[in-house]
Amino acid sequence: MSSQVSSVPLLDLHAQYRPIREDILAAIARVCDSQRFIGGPEVEGLERELAGMLEVTEAVGVSSGTDALLAAMMALGIGPGDEVVTTTYSFFATAGCVTRLGARPVLVDIAPATCNIDPTAVAAAITARTRAIIPVHLFGCSAEMTPILETAAKAGIAVIEDAAQAIGARYHGRPVGGLGTLGCFSFFPSKNLGAFGDGGLVTTNDPALARRLRLVRNHGAEPKYFHKIVGANFRLDALQAAVLRVKLPHLAAWTAARRRNADRYRELLAPLSAKGRVRLPVEPAGCHHIYNQFVIRVEDRDRVKAGLDARRVGTEVYYPVPFHLQECFKDLGYKQGQFPAAEEAADGTLALPIYGELTEDQQRYVVDSIAQVIG
Ligand SMILES: *Cc1c(COP(=O)(O)O)cnc(C)c1O
Repeated sequence: MSSQVSSVPLLDLHAQYRPIREDILAAIARVCDSQRFIGGPEVEGLERELAGMLEVTEAVGVSSGTDALLAAMMALGIGPGDEVVTTTYSFFATAGCVTRLGARPVLVDIAPATCNIDPTAVAAAITARTRAIIPVHLFGCSAEMTPILETAAKAGIAVIEDAAQAIGARYHGRPVGGLGTLGCFSFFPSKNLGAFGDGGLVTTNDPALARRLRLVRNHGAEPKYFHKIVGANFRLDALQAAVLRVKLPHLAAWTAARRRNADRYRELLAPLSAKGRVRLPVEPAGCHHIYNQFVIRVEDRDRVKAGLDARRVGTEVYYPVPFHLQECFKDLGYKQGQFPAAEEAADGTLALPIYGELTEDQQRYVVDSIAQVIG
């Protein structure tokens, strides 16, 4: 091999930071000099800019993606006795937040091709107690929203999009997060738009819900010390907002670079894919995938991962255990084998490095390493 590459990390945040370092430090200095750390012009500016980009009328900054989900459900008044239908295959927060509010997560299986929630299973899971559906746009690819929105409209219930991994992803031309009743985003550092700490956002086109969200994120106070409802401290801080405002103008180019890298993996992995040794991620018609993760499927995944670890190729398993098999949810009464597509995904998925600054030589090293381990 001609290249000098001998290791590739799963994610290299330094590579993104280096060219924008001066702008970031200037933005942080601006907040420090203002001594305004909570709310204020940085948070309001970010909310305005994100609402524009996401084509929604309302964007409410919050403290994390997890708190975005909690705040969204609190704004809808979801609580004990309520059911929320969601996927069994996602990051823990998606279902954990439902339980934290005393409601019951009703889990359904995924569509095997995309690992996104199966809309037919969603329709079958609706009961008189269902208050909301939470589809997750997993790995950066939109869930199949049209049938989910139809099911919700028929039942008269809300759709909360978990778009934590999917900022800028589109579904038939429209940005995710504005398709349902509420959209939830995360600025965790490994997401496509990452803060220097925790942060999140809730979007909606419903001004009444947005007012409620702004109450919920600040202890339900309006004015100060007069509490209309019981909320929490779900505020986004000005330092994070200032950092995110420096990054936001770069997001489209970073996403384009991730998509270019995905295309390159498809080319480089084509021989292994043709032999059935690797299954590539799909981008369904009408879905503009932003590749927060590039997730392949392989036989004997743990052995492949160990082989790649030995060649210093960073990979990750998203996610090794579906919700219905998690210890903390055993009281929900689900059984092994109940959601076979999710269980198969948990055993076979492997995320490869896909960040925008990844070079062609690095990608060749990743693919050569996979060929050696599998071959
Ligand atoms: C990251 C993530 C969250 C939680 O976001 P945090 O900012 O880490 O709290 C929720 N749902 C999904 C699908 C995620 O990937």
